Amino acid sequence: MKLASAARLPSDVSRVQSRLRSRSGLGVETDVMLASHAVPTEDLVRVRRHLHRRPELSMVEHDTAAFVAAELEKLGLDRIRTAVGKTGVLGTLEGGRPGPVTLLRADMDALPIAELVETDYRSERAGAMHACGHDGHVSILLAAAKTLADRRAEVPGTIVFCFQPGEEGHAGNRLMIEDGALENPHVDRTFALHLYSGLDVGNVGVRDGAFFASADEFVIGLKGRGGHGAMPQNSIDPIVAGSYFVTMLQTIVSREIAPKDPAVFTVGKFEAGTTFNVIPDEATLMGTVRCFDAEIRASMPQRMERILKGLREAMRVEYELEYRWSYPPTVNDKAMNDLVRGVARDTLGADRLVEHDIVMWAEDMSFMQEQRAGAYFIVGARGGDATGVPHHNARFDIDERSLDVGYRMMVALGLRG
Ligand SMILES: [Zn+2]
Ligand SMILES: [Zn+2]
Repeated sequence: MKLASAARLPSDVSRVQSRLRSRSGLGVETDVMLASHAVPTEDLVRVRRHLHRRPELSMVEHDTAAFVAAELEKLGLDRIRTAVGKTGVLGTLEGGRPGPVTLLRADMDALPIAELVETDYRSERAGAMHACGHDGHVSILLAAAKTLADRRAEVPGTIVFCFQPGEEGHAGNRLMIEDGALENPHVDRTFALHLYSGLDVGNVGVRDGAFFASADEFVIGLKGRGGHGAMPQNSIDPIVAGSYFVTMLQTIVSREIAPKDPAVFTVGKFEAGTTFNVIPDEATLMGTVRCFDAEIRASMPQRMERILKGLREAMRVEYELEYRWSYPPTVNDKAMNDLVRGVARDTLGADRLVEHDIVMWAEDMSFMQEQRAGAYFIVGARGGDATGVPHHNARFDIDERSLDVGYRMMVALGLRG
């Protein structure tokens, strides 16, 4: 693509700026669209704020799970299972019409972040914060469960409300599968949503095929020979070798993988040495690998190993590579995605449905979506600058009108055969 000419640039910039301005304050039209007396807005906000004040880290969501189970108890469901995958909760509702078994999922965990948002519902637990919006997910699914239980006669098939622990790096989804979450009843299809501060409130984003990346991890130990910083000839320097490795690693993406296939290597930790004039014995590197294609994903450890072997030959260091398979890419089923599209058009309007680009984060709902046809969609949670902060940031917050949108989507999906 050519560079924009100097004459065109200012008008392009002003067009983008005015688009951004109109995004930051939602118009009257959007407020009308979101307002509906059928939506339990007050409950959605109250429950979300209750959970926001009491964040719990991955796999110790005991209070949240107890709260969820107590709320589900009030609904007269057919079955409630607790302690599924350690702290997960499942509620089963048998509908009044024939139909498939549909699993609707919300994740419950918070992050080890000290909240910096100044609100009256800020975290009351030091060092823990709902900085990814999972408090909203739980609130949405509880409210949807209540409505669908009230409208049981209209519900096709069976709905399993799935409240999952440990999404943030602990594969709670896989633990729930291992504990039988997809059986009794046998789940046919799954739906999940994520509130997203990168999308304007009122909108829903979908994507066919891989939507979110895989996320795997590596730890590399490099062993050299320590010595005096002034006499490198007597040492084997693992810091220099490790530094070469960090840059060589990037050539996997830039020189070995087609530009059309997104992939990321990040070395997030490089630990070596103690002081300014000592060459250390060892260096340790840790990092993450992200991509969207199963074959490329499977090839990554061998590609890294090849570079490490070269490093051993070239720089005399010994190495150890520990590669940890974590979350697969989240792949959406086309038919399930079309159901989401239909529901979004009917409940929100066609202009609220966004065909979204890939998102580089990873999601453990990918485990369930490997086993069942599923659709994962994103729900816009940005209503201005304060709610446009990235996820996992200490200033993250959602525009709570997004709860209404998520609720309406989940209810409509539960009612769709
Ligand atoms: Zn997160
Ligand atoms: Zn999340």
